[in-house]
Amino acid sequence: MQLFELFPSRDGHGAGQDLSVKAQEGVSSSGKASLAVERSSPQVYDSTASMEHDQLCTMCSLIKFDPQADPPWAGFESYKDRHALGTFGDVSRRKRCPLCRLVCHVLGNSRDASVHQEPYEVYLERHEIGLNVRGCSFAVISPVVDPSFRQAKYRWSFPISQKRVDYNRLLYWIDCCIAKHEDCRVKEFRRPAHLGFGEIAKLRLIDVVERRIVEVQMPTNYVALSYVWGGVPNFRLTTNNLPALSKPGAITKIWHRLPRTIRDAIEVTEGLKERYLWVDSLCLIQNDRTDMKNGIVVMDLIYELANLTIIAASGSHADAGLPGVGCTSRPITQYIEHIQPGLDLAVYFDIEHLLSQTAYNRRGWT
Ligand SMILES: [Zn+2]
Ligand SMILES: [Zn+2]
Repeated sequence: MQLFELFPSRDGHGAGQDLSVKAQEGVSSSGKASLAVERSSPQVYDSTASMEHDQLCTMCSLIKFDPQADPPWAGFESYKDRHALGTFGDVSRRKRCPLCRLVCHVLGNSRDASVHQEPYEVYLERHEIGLNVRGCSFAVISPVVDPSFRQAKYRWSFPISQKRVDYNRLLYWIDCCIAKHEDCRVKEFRRPAHLGFGEIAKLRLIDVVERRIVEVQMPTNYVALSYVWGGVPNFRLTTNNLPALSKPGAITKIWHRLPRTIRDAIEVTEGLKERYLWVDSLCLIQNDRTDMKNGIVVMDLIYELANLTIIAASGSHADAGLPGVGCTSRPITQYIEHIQPGLDLAVYFDIEHLLSQTAYNRRGWT
């Protein structure tokens, strides 16, 4: 499982689960669930700026919205049903229609500039009101519900109301992952009791409770951090400091020498009630070629066997921090439009789409 802190949060499940200011559940290409942390997208949509006299346009008013239904729209009887909105130009001219504005926001975030060109038609599709341009679906529009809402058949967005990570929400997603995601469960069978764990049958980890480096017999539960080192100084585990860092409280003593992303990841690990965290710079002896080589050989297994991986997707270096954690702030940007009494809709983007725009996506093996 990986956790992505990214977009308008939503419930339900695909093969993945994610979190954020705007957190969302998503499916990684591997089919595994994931949690990444991402700075908000640069375009800030202010839903409070909705225009007076908003009204669904002629095209959008053909959709029968019903806030009491699940999903709260009708008229899409099958997966193949489509609701044509015209071209991007048509949609962008209907500025008083809240649904068209959401669609424009989605299209404005598309990497593929050709979707903006006439004469491609824009369609709304049944599930979560998927948006389809030229046969390519890349974002969804979903109903916004109260965070306590748990029983939806379709996917929903949760409003983000605070600037800090909501650990209860993350724990809820993790519970969903464990309960519902077949793909995430598969790894249990792959735990290498019979395969061995390469040269690291014992995994070196940060014990966030005792604040020290420990060696733990595999298999064990742990969180892994995936991040971009970038060009900033990173505190490194060495043969010299390993004895000192193995003593209880040692991590506290070097706290301010650790890059912010690692400090924040330790806080997330505690917030998720997990005990162990794997971070390359502190769990592989950086001046011991054998230890490094043995660790790198099983790097994919280290991430695969982690209970979850925190992906610091927003940062281009190790001091960027995780938005919403520690002293790292996160702006709240959530794309929500009020459609009618009792019904707000939000946009969220596919995880791959979001990650494609990050420095994280251009990294090497971390
Ligand atoms: Zn419209
Ligand atoms: Zn999962």
